Formats: sequence, C-alpha cells, structure tokens
Amino acid sequence: MSGAKKLVVGNWKLQGSRSANAELLQGLLAADLSASAPRADVAVCPPFVYLAEVVSALQGSAIAVGSQDVSAQGQGAFTGEVSAAMVRELGARYAIVGHSERRSYHGESDQLVADKAKAALSHGLVPIVCVGETLAERESGETEAVVGRQLQAVIDTLGADLARVVVAYEPVWAIGTGKTASPEQAQAVHAFLRARLTAAQADAARVPLLYGGSVKPDNAAELFAQSDIDGGLIGGASLKAADFAAIARAA
Ligand code: PEP
Repeated sequence: MSGAKKLVVGNWKLQGSRSANAELLQGLLAADLSASAPRADVAVCPPFVYLAEVVSALQGSAIAVGSQDVSAQGQGAFTGEVSAAMVRELGARYAIVGHSERRSYHGESDQLVADKAKAALSHGLVPIVCVGETLAERESGETEAVVGRQLQAVIDTLGADLARVVVAYEPVWAIGTGKTASPEQAQAVHAFLRARLTAAQADAARVPLLYGGSVKPDNAAELFAQSDIDGGLIGGASLKAADFAAIARAA
C-alpha cells in the first residue's frame, strides 16, 4: 500500500493508571500529531477499563482508540468477556485480536482469533489481526507455514469482509525483546502475507500490513520505508509520548 498513509498503533498492554494515562495522553496531544506526523493515522489501545476515559481525553484529536482484545461472543453467560458492541459503544475504532501474548498465555486458537475478528467487524470495529512465528519456528524454516496458517483461518472465516481488516506481522521473538526483524526480514513476510491476501480476494491487496516487534524511533523509518510495510504496532515505545510521536513522524 505504498503511497497511502501509514497506520501507527500503540499497544499499552497491561500497563497504565489514570494518572499515568493522563500524562501520556497530554504528551501525545502536545505533540500535535496531525500537524507533526501528517503521513500517519495514529491510534492507542489501552486496557478495557480505561477505554471510555481515553476516548474522552482524545475527543477532537486525530488519535483514534482501540481495545487490546474483544470477545468472539455477542452476549450472555461469558464471565469476564467484553463484547465488540461494548467496545464500539465506548467510541473505539479498532480491536487488536490474536496478539501472540493472548495466543500463548490464553491458548487462543487460529479459529478463535478469526471469530473475534468477525465479531469486531460485525459491530463496526476494525480488527487488527496479529500473526507471527516463534524463534524456533523461524529457525526451522516454518515462518511462512505458521503465518499462512494463522491468516488462512481469517480468510476462511471473513469471506467477503476480508478487505476490511488490518493485519499485524509480529514475530514473537521480536516482541519486547529489543530484537527487531531486519527491514528485509519483515518485508519478506509482509510480501508473503500480501500475496496470500490478494490471492484470496483482489480487494484484500489493500489491507494495511503493520509490523510489530521492538519498533523504536531509531528503526521505524527504515521499516516503514519497505514497500509492503504500511505502519507499525508499537508496544514498549508507545508508553513514552516522545518515542511514540517520533515513530509516527517516521511514517
Ligand atoms: C506489541 O506488544 O505488539 C509489541 C510489538 O511490543 P514491543 O514493541 O514492545 O516489542
């Protein structure tokens, strides 16, 4: 999708407090990203409990809000779950689904992740579907098989709605480790994902493909310069307003 605006999304994970969030948001608002980073669409994904407050703090700004997960269920006896309709009602635009931390710590299957993406879409949220291989999988030459399998569940489940998602390639070995995939490594996987999406549906060639995994101000520009990298999903560096703003400016 070269030429289009990049999408830069912050994943706060299980971090924050009302006061820490207020300080972070103040820093982001002061950075005036619509003027200083005009080539980036920007969103932040706080924990569920802060969604309403963050949406309200960002009202009138160009920064959108997303959740870090969403239930595949609509409503009912599913204690602890949060539905897509609830997240949407609070004013969020995006929902991350299938983050590797949820796949590994919560046993989320490829099909559950695809069902979550479907639930998000059916309530007006844009799912950011994460895929990625572990270090062992990369070293045994299985990267394409793994991300291809993860993506296929989404292709099969969403059908004609496939073009409405965002996909984030996040190699598990690069998340929170300080090890970034090289721009060439990331580009190769993105090109593979683009080809799979396009083969499934011509319209899906336009699906934004984000890279995630230790993106920092000093490596963002090189990653974003790759032809199939349409933005980034940013963990650690999204908790510092100056770093997150610098990454958005690198778009
Ligand atoms: C993430 O949590 O999605 C992520 C990419 O984290 P980090 O940027 O800290 O590696």
